[in-house]
Formats: sequence, structure tokens, C-alpha cells
Amino acid sequence: MAYTRPLADIRVGGEIDAVCTRCRVITIHRIVAMVDGQVRRVICLSCDSQHNYHQPPGEKRQITEKVKRVAKDMKKTSSFSAGGGRVFAMWMESKQALADSGASPRAYNIKDLFEAGQALNHPKFGLGFVQKIIPPNKMEVMFDNEIKTLAMNVS
Ligand SMILES: [Zn+2]
Repeated sequence: MAYTRPLADIRVGGEIDAVCTRCRVITIHRIVAMVDGQVRRVICLSCDSQHNYHQPPGEKRQITEKVKRVAKDMKKTSSFSAGGGRVFAMWMESKQALADSGASPRAYNIKDLFEAGQALNHPKFGLGFVQKIIPPNKMEVMFDNEIKTLAMNVS
């Protein structure tokens, strides 16, 4: 049962590029409210501020280029999809961002407390990115072809 997710994840709880009124740049936002199919309120994943959705200028073109780039990446890394699973474009981007930042993922330990946005290394599932914390001791982690709910902060 493969969990797949469209590139344009336009729904409440989904993520979207938007202009952040505090960061003053385009950052990834989580959608918190939609009206008539239009995104209304978003939370910036960089600074946690909630504000009205501002569409980034020239967004359509950027998304097209992003899709093309990701498709190219997926061809280059065909070993990831060899098992029949679908590689998340988002996972590829997060992996690239991690490589660019020079940081290394934390080893997954059920006793540790994680935060959304952190990268972790799971002994069985490999490199994952924490998407969401489900208090008090669960989290959603995006692996290369599925999102799993893992336990954390368990003593
Ligand atoms: Zn921000």
C-alpha cells in the first residue's frame, strides 16, 4: 500500500510556497484555512507566524520548473524507485536541503524528543524528515516513499 501525494498539495494541512509577511521571502507554509477552494490562512514553517496567504509572484512558472527538476532528479536516482515505491519529490528536496546545509541526520531513538523539520536516520527506513509532532509522543515522518507515524519521547 503505497502512500502517494500530489506535488501540489493544496488542502488544509498541506504545504505550499507562499510569501511570508515576517521572513519577507517565499518560504514553505502549512495551510490552515481554505475558503471556496482558495488558500486563506497559512503558517510559515520557518518562523511559525500565521498570516493570510500571499501567492508568490510568478508561482506558476516556478512550480513547472520545480516539477521538471524533480523529474530529472528521480531519473538520476533510479535506485530509489527500484523497489516499486514512489519517491516523494518533497523527500528529494528535503534531502538536497539537508546536504546543502551540511548537517547530518539524528539517529532515531524512541526515547528522544524530535521537532518538526528535523532530519533523522532510522535503522530500518533510512533517512526521514519529521513532518508533524503528534503530542505527546508520536510524530509523522516522511521517508523516501511513505509517511510513517513513529513513537518518540517514550521513556
Ligand atoms: Zn516566516
